[in-house]
Amino acid sequence: MLFEKMLTPKFIFGSYSDVTPEFMTLNGYTSLISDIDNTLAPYEITEAPREVADWARALKDSGVKLALVSNNHSDRVEKFNSTLGLPAFSDVKKPSAKYIEKALESLDAKKESTLFLGDQLLTDALAAHRAGLDCAIVPPIKDKKNLFFKVKRLIERPYMKKFSKKFSKKFPKKLSKKPETELVKERGMPKN
Ligand SMILES: [Mg+2]
Repeated sequence: MLFEKMLTPKFIFGSYSDVTPEFMTLNGYTSLISDIDNTLAPYEITEAPREVADWARALKDSGVKLALVSNNHSDRVEKFNSTLGLPAFSDVKKPSAKYIEKALESLDAKKESTLFLGDQLLTDALAAHRAGLDCAIVPPIKDKKNLFFKVKRLIERPYMKKFSKKFSKKFPKKLSKKPETELVKERGMPKN
């Protein structure tokens, strides 16, 4: 039960760009710590795309502090961050919370007003929750549709199970659908 809670993000977005300055303000977040790979860009894009730079600048201009944490190596992170110039941490070993805490320190931010953004439940969401941060998940940029549904199903599964149990107790007949062949036997075969 607790583990399930640790994996369940507070928000699910279609893209990192849905995390707008307006969203941050409305929800009381003043800082954002983001994953890089498949959250902001696919692995093979080595430098931050212009859209990411514009998004980061818009957040910064609105007063939101932003840091990057990545499980990837320092060369990757440094190159990606070269045009962004953000506090950035590599080899952070998520789901460890250690470097998320370091990122918070580097931003001089409080966990209560910081949102974590990532694409993986088992690394990003878990690390964020261990550090005491709220978490937003986006589908991985690569293989978006497929993995998005996996994420969705994973979150839904326990709730759906509980729901169908309750439902079948309340309305047992509605769920006991007999196969077509048995219904034919009960009704009798149509006569010509
Ligand atoms: Mg990632």
